[in-house]
Amino acid sequence: MEFNIAVIPGDGIGPEIVREAQKVLDQVGKKFGHTFHYTEVLMGGVSIDKTGVPLTEEALATAKASDAVLLGAVGGVVGKDSWYELPPNLRPEAGLLAIRKGLGLFANLRPAYLYKELKDACPLKEEIIGEDGFDMIIVRELTGGLYFGEHKTVNENGLETAYDELKYDESEIERIARKGFEIAMKRRKNVISVGKANVLDSSRLWNKVVARVAKEYPEVTLTEMLVDNCAMQLVKNPSQFDVILTENMFGDILSDEASMVTGSIGMLSSASLGEGKFGLYEPSHGAAPDIAGQNIANPIATILSAAMMLRYSCDLDQEADAVEAAVNKVLEEGFRTVDIMADGMDQVSCSEMGDLISKRI
Ligand code: NAD
Repeated sequence: MEFNIAVIPGDGIGPEIVREAQKVLDQVGKKFGHTFHYTEVLMGGVSIDKTGVPLTEEALATAKASDAVLLGAVGGVVGKDSWYELPPNLRPEAGLLAIRKGLGLFANLRPAYLYKELKDACPLKEEIIGEDGFDMIIVRELTGGLYFGEHKTVNENGLETAYDELKYDESEIERIARKGFEIAMKRRKNVISVGKANVLDSSRLWNKVVARVAKEYPEVTLTEMLVDNCAMQLVKNPSQFDVILTENMFGDILSDEASMVTGSIGMLSSASLGEGKFGLYEPSHGAAPDIAGQNIANPIATILSAAMMLRYSCDLDQEADAVEAAVNKVLEEGFRTVDIMADGMDQVSCSEMGDLISKRI
């Protein structure tokens, strides 16, 4: 099969880590008989330098016309990079918001997976992690809820008073629920839907709509959980989770909590999906300007994001499994980039890590 991928290297370590992900994709192509056509797209600081804005209309159109987008990261250092002398809407990070909005991405996926070999980086106790560790994915609604409602601060009875509106309609809940169940069908078929239905109308509507969508997926087990309980359960018994389906703000908080219990920022992939199979895939970390250009960044988060792209945008589950297995193998063999280095392991560079993973596909 053939796929058109828009590639956005971005700033900082972005170009280094994206290069390694492309290396792995090309190896997948060779091994399984697919071709990935890449079109490079400018975004972030590099785009400001060349065009004056963090994302041009042409760049967005190129991304839109592709099957999927693979992104490194954007941004630099405030006080050091001149980009931050510009107004906020022209800074590198504004490109991120513009592309997410422009591409209509409404579902954010953040897996939290504990590698056996990296158990020491996990802040949880051995008896909590258990033999098998944990492997969950948070499916977060990305374009509705509290962050997108009306915000205002007014004077009421002589007091400054702030309002933030939390609003969801049925269609917004339905489309994210469907994504959650589709993803569960590719995994262990277990969805935990998280909200605050004991207090919020929006959560009660959420539960009603999710239960309705669940009927279309009789193989999937659906459970409702309150968000405060979920926050506790993530550190008490993380292995109970497969797919966590939740609204925007709860997902924002829970996905950071879930990722921290895995211990290592250089390992965490993410995806943002729109209608159909289209998606944007990027590591959860930023542009890491402190280590840029040194060939020491960990490319695994980006490589695993490319694996998610294979699974969700290209429908290539076997190929995605092969990438994940290759990452596991390299870790088992004791190769580590500096951020996850431990005693007795072999330290490798960013490009060596990409080579090692490619060779094991
Ligand atoms: P960061 O994630 O870039 O870095 C935090 C720390 O983790 C740094 O010490 C960095 O060296 C390390 N780190 C991150 N990724 C790593 C990797 N793959 N391998 C090894 N070490 C890694 O967060 P920050 O320092 O807060 O932000 C730096 C810049 O990135 C800022 O301009 C910020 O706005 C931007 N940013 C961009 C995105 C994005 O593009 N999606 C996300 C977050 C931050």
